[in-house]
Amino acid sequence: MSVESNTSAESPNDRSEAQPGAETTHGAPNFLRNQIRDEIESGQATTIVTRFPPEPNGFLHIGHAKSIWVNFGLAEQFGGRCHLRFDDTNPAKEEQAYIDAIQEDIRWLGYEWSGAVRFASDYFDQLYAWAQHLVREGKAYVDDLSPEEIREYRGTLTEPGRPSPYRDRGVEENLDLLERMRLGEFEEGSKVLRARIDMAAPNINLRDPILYRIRHAHHHQTGDKWKIYPSYDFTHGQSDAIEGITHSLCTLEFEDHRPLYEWFLAHLPVPAKPRQTEFARMNVNHTVTSKRKLKLLVDRNVVDGWDDPRMPTISGLRRRGYTPASLRKFCDMTGVSRAANVVDIAMLHFAIRSDLEDNAPRAMCVLNPLKVVLTNLPADHDEVFEVPGHPAREDMGTRRLPLTREIWIDREDFMEEPPKKFFRLAPGKEVRLRNGYVIRCDEVIKGDGGEIDALHCSVDFDTLGKNPEGRKVKGVIHWVSAEHGVPVEVRLYDNLFLEEAPDRDKDADFLDHLNPDSLVTVQGIAEPALADAEPEARYQFERVGYFCADRHACRDGKLVFNRTVGLKDSWAKIQKKQG
Ligand code: ATP
Ligand code: MG
Repeated sequence: MSVESNTSAESPNDRSEAQPGAETTHGAPNFLRNQIRDEIESGQATTIVTRFPPEPNGFLHIGHAKSIWVNFGLAEQFGGRCHLRFDDTNPAKEEQAYIDAIQEDIRWLGYEWSGAVRFASDYFDQLYAWAQHLVREGKAYVDDLSPEEIREYRGTLTEPGRPSPYRDRGVEENLDLLERMRLGEFEEGSKVLRARIDMAAPNINLRDPILYRIRHAHHHQTGDKWKIYPSYDFTHGQSDAIEGITHSLCTLEFEDHRPLYEWFLAHLPVPAKPRQTEFARMNVNHTVTSKRKLKLLVDRNVVDGWDDPRMPTISGLRRRGYTPASLRKFCDMTGVSRAANVVDIAMLHFAIRSDLEDNAPRAMCVLNPLKVVLTNLPADHDEVFEVPGHPAREDMGTRRLPLTREIWIDREDFMEEPPKKFFRLAPGKEVRLRNGYVIRCDEVIKGDGGEIDALHCSVDFDTLGKNPEGRKVKGVIHWVSAEHGVPVEVRLYDNLFLEEAPDRDKDADFLDHLNPDSLVTVQGIAEPALADAEPEARYQFERVGYFCADRHACRDGKLVFNRTVGLKDSWAKIQKKQG
């Protein structure tokens, strides 16, 4: 297990690569790219056809983003095409809502599938005909053993399996039983159709695998037409063949299924011979990438739905403020290999931070407001500073920052008894208001309980755009006019799990490792320009971090910003300290 280190990701070279709008889709070489390039150069392959085959039983997560990037990206790079095919053989867990969300996520990532959306269920008639074909060839049979018996007869890694007593049924009887299974004459679990391969095969997947199960279930695409449903193994390769897929790219857990994938292609009159190649699943630390576990978080209301900004789902990352380009860059940075690996979530943070650093307009927002009265400004003082939207992007224009007698600053930028290296505001000390004047703290105003209510400060008017005479002022703090600032809700998101590998221990509940502070909500005040923030608009709140207007909550004049990522990686630092 290798963990990519954050320090290498933050090398100056990486940073300078991230130009505005830089396309990172086909960056570094990886073994799949090399393999396909070799095939094309040697004439072994002409057109590349890949597919992304999600099961519509949940929302897509960051691991799927990798698979999408691999499949769509390779097809795009080599001038081929990529199909979207829902692998919908298990009607019990699938839903139309997932089908819709998955399509939205793929498009949002910037990819478009070739042709219509496809479904494995489109091929159910063909698959059934092929099942009958295998029966006629003596290569499949109806088995009456119970699921438990089938498991028991299958043997183990060290012991061969035993043949079912139903293995030698005649062709006519098998055809008749299969047809009656299809018509719904038998109870669920009472019969299955199995391939007749080899009960002693060292690879357990070849010990007469199940082709069809009885399921009296309503299917989102085929309705009540089918009472039997094909297994994944009996569906996938044949669907690839029907669609003319050339490269069936999947994750390593299917490696042991490849002989079976090839067995079906060899024993059925399929129109093409796709080839399966496996690569390692991508895992990210401090999160889980399993739809089943993510569904649990949703069902138990641990999070606010599949697209909660803490979820590693594509829609959650989107709502958190990630850009499609940053996720594609992340996939490229983390590469493709056959070795299992866990990626440090800091790399994901790096990918979005470098994108937003270049592309997010700047704004000021005070998260923990402390009132400052600028005593040498008149009550009606209303000066406006015109400042750049982004320090390096003239195309982002300027914004208007009003300065009034009363302003807000962040409580953390003031200390009554500061330590030596504290360069922000303190009694008798000076600090620069970002984009404005240098001010000095003359008086601390306290309430009855001794709490600090406000600061009285004075402005040095001779400091706009220049250093004060005869002294150095090191600190710069952000601020917002009290009169013109707009109230905003700010949601400070952090990793959902404290533990680096929340699901490492198979016997423990991964929910025990939840971070209780994964969401802290504060009421802040932002500069007036943010009143017009569109849903999903992204900003750098200067000195604070990167934020995104929530796509659901920003409506009817309400402003809600989600913290996408901090300015610096404080997480890695905390980890280092603790470790
Ligand atoms: P999960 O375990 O989260 O349910 P899955 O593999 O069952 O994932 P599918 O909908 O079957 O989910 O996956 C669609 C495609 O995405 C498959 O080709 C699968 O190999 C790929 N995929 C899923 N998770 C990852 C991952 N973490 N890294 C890379 N590819 C993945
Ligand atoms: Mg699956």
